[in-house]
Order: sequence, then C-alpha cells, then structure tokens
Amino acid sequence: MGVKVFYGDPRQARLEGNETLPAKLDLILDHLHLQDRVKGELVALKLHVGNKIGYSTLHPVFIRKVVKAIRDGGGKPFIVDVDWDMEGAVSRGYTAEVLGCPIVPNGGPSDKYFYAHERPYKNIKEWNVAGMVEDATFLVNFAHAKGHPTNAYGGALKNIALGCMVGKTRSAMHDSVLFDPYWFKDKCRDEETRQRIIASCPHGALVKDKYDPEEIHLHVDLCNQCGRCLQVAPEGSLKIVPANFHAFHEAVAISTSITMSTFEPGKAVHLVLATHMTPVCDCFGFTSMPIMRDAGIFGSDDIVAVDQAVLDATSKYPLIEENVPTSMEVHTRVGHPLRWLHGPLKDPYKATEYAEKVGLGTRDYELVDVLPVESIRPAPMGYIPAQ
Ligand code: SF4
Repeated sequence: MGVKVFYGDPRQARLEGNETLPAKLDLILDHLHLQDRVKGELVALKLHVGNKIGYSTLHPVFIRKVVKAIRDGGGKPFIVDVDWDMEGAVSRGYTAEVLGCPIVPNGGPSDKYFYAHERPYKNIKEWNVAGMVEDATFLVNFAHAKGHPTNAYGGALKNIALGCMVGKTRSAMHDSVLFDPYWFKDKCRDEETRQRIIASCPHGALVKDKYDPEEIHLHVDLCNQCGRCLQVAPEGSLKIVPANFHAFHEAVAISTSITMSTFEPGKAVHLVLATHMTPVCDCFGFTSMPIMRDAGIFGSDDIVAVDQAVLDATSKYPLIEENVPTSMEVHTRVGHPLRWLHGPLKDPYKATEYAEKVGLGTRDYELVDVLPVESIRPAPMGYIPAQ
C-alpha cells in the first residue's frame, strides 16, 4: 500500500457548501494534521499569485483557510512567490489583509537574496534557493494544476522547482533543454534549405540564431514534436529527441530535491487544486479556457505521490479539444491529455519519474476521498424510483 493522498472530489451530492472544495480543503488539512505540526514554526506558504490579468490561480478563499490553520496551530505564516509575479499581486486580489499574512518576494525585493547549492547538471553548476524559502522551518506547497509549455504539467513539483529558485536559476533551468546538441550545421551549409526548415514549423519553434546565420535555434517550449521540420532537414542535420525535452523534467526533479533538502523530514505538506486547468502556466498572465475537466483538490506529505494522483485523475477524461487555442495542435491522442497538447516528448509523468529517482517520494499512493459523493444520501428517505 502506498502513501496516502487525501482527495476532495469536485462533485457534490447536495447543494450544500460543506460538500464543495473549500470545505474539503479543511478536511484534507485535518487529515494532514497541519495544525498540530506547525507550532512555533516559520511557515513559508508557496503559491503562485499569477501574473497580469490571469484569474485562474488559487482563489483567496482557499488560501485563507490554509493561513488560518497555520495560525490556529501556533505557526507564523508568510506567503512567497517569485518577484515578477508579486509585482501585480494586489490587482489580482492577493493582499495581506485578504489572505491573513504577509506576502513577500521569495528572493527579496531585488531577487538577490538566496543560498547557493552546488550540484552540476548540464549547463547548471549552482542552484540558488530563494532566501525567504530556505529561512523558513516549515513549507506548505499549494499549487494550482495546469499545463506547462516545457514540462507539460505544472503542479506540486513545478511550484517548488521553479517557484523556490531565484531568477538566474530559473533561466538556467529553461536553458537546460538546449545543452545537448540538436542542430548540426556541417550537415546543412545551404542557406535556402535552412530557410525551408525554419519555414516548415507552423509553431515558430525554429529560428535563425542571432549571432551565427548557420545556426538554428529550437524553442523547445513551442515545439510539439510534429516532425514536419525533420521531413525538410537533410539527414543528420536536426534532432528532435528526448535528451533535450526530458532535460527540463529532470531539472524540475533536481531543483525540487535541493529545496526540499533544506527542510527537515516531516516539515512540509503539498496541496494541489485541480480546477480551471489551462494549456500553459499561470506566468503567462492570462486565463485561457479550461482544457481538462476539474479533478478536485489533493493533499499529501509526499510531493511525488500528490502530483502522480493529480495526473492519474486528470488522465481519466480526454482533452477538451474545443477549448484548445486554435494556434495549438493535437497530433497524438495517446497517453495523458497534456501529452496530446504538448507532444509525445513532453510526457507529464516524466517529472514524477525523475522525482522518484532522486528520492523525493513515491508514485505508489493510496487515494483517500475525504467526503465520497456516494456516501452522501441526497434525501433522508429510502430509494424511490423516479416516475
Ligand atoms: S517538430 Fe514540429 S513543432 Fe517542433 S520544431 Fe519541428 S516542425 Fe516545429
């Protein structure tokens, strides 16, 4: 039997507030014994406050509940997120007055407050954990589930991997996908052919390098691995291969493990709200239509298990293709719906696989529904068939 992931179903039996997701969050916090664990702790509550005019990030109703539980338990909560998202947080309704505790940029006002951790990986030598995160003694990781252009999925792991490092490390993580060579200019010296290769990509994922006209640059985030460019490129000149795409998934696992290593065992809980899931992450600064059916709310002490549970729950239903932006393209319908959207080499399960390998947790979990819809009798009388 795996570790427990507590789960609140988005469905309800009756039209009553205590069967809805904020009330189920309270039940999940009780199951995780959050209040009993935070006495005297300095608690960093990591969430994504969104950007610009996005409105699908965590609603303050949910955040206030977590803040209250921490305060009721004798902990000292503060909310952290990256500096550039923090700038317009007030315009999206995130204020200390509303949420019940201070909101601070994780790396200080200039993003220069961090702790360096050496761990070589591809282009990255040093990982800079945001100072306000590492200074905390307890972590509540509260993520909103959605798609991501490079990782395919943004949930609990991504919230920590990107959101707890300062900007320099976040940039380096995005560049890790370019570390392994994919363009071999010796195999394509002809300018006209290079232009045809670039023009073959309907997503603008291939561009001429700014400094060397013979180099082609791949924007991995825009590439859905449709293979059109490979039909134009001379043999051996261009590679669209796992090494580049999986680098980001692995970087997510490594980054998360470094941040989590700064907390003592048992000093973290992980929550994911899987509602209004958009094609790309909340950094984009807008909210698109949901591309997956709402899956509910999840909580666990195990960051790998909680993401695995969200992915399994969201894989039960197909992608809502009519809600996909028309500039995006579905060319495979195999595996998780986010793989349909972002391409076969961006499998959302990859990050959880790497995370398990680096010892962050387990993909083997037991899902515990905190208020099963089936357990609620819609009417006090016995069953009477409808006429
Ligand atoms: S595989 Fe498709 S999306 Fe990717 S660079 Fe080639 S043409 Fe563009």
